[in-house]
Amino acid sequence: MTGDQWDDVLRCLAEFDPVPSDVLRHAVERDGLCHTTHREGDPPEPDTADDPDRALAAHFCAGCPVQDECLALELHTAGAETHGIWGGFAEDDRRALHHIWARHRFADSETSDHEGGSLS
Ligand code: SF4
Repeated sequence: MTGDQWDDVLRCLAEFDPVPSDVLRHAVERDGLCHTTHREGDPPEPDTADDPDRALAAHFCAGCPVQDECLALELHTAGAETHGIWGGFAEDDRRALHHIWARHRFADSETSDHEGGSLS
């Protein structure tokens, strides 16, 4: 992933920083495709030039309406030890993202106060 693409993801994640994990978890469990829909068929054959988990994550989470909430929840709760496929990302990508995201959050917390929030 390029720096610009991470920037877009980080901007999106920043919206969820004030949202408590239990609120994120409720949204993911209520609306997440893997919680509400049984997927038919086999996963795609991975492009050998790409990470197979990346292709699987893109397939597994395609169309899920709470990908951002799911990604934020995983970063908040599993942190750098994240495993598996969550939020449309493979674990190697989420671990790389967690490193950048945690630095951004720390920098932001020094300049602002966040209070708890809610999802609509
Ligand atoms: S983003 Fe993927 S792992 Fe998360 S709830 Fe949606 S389908 Fe499930």
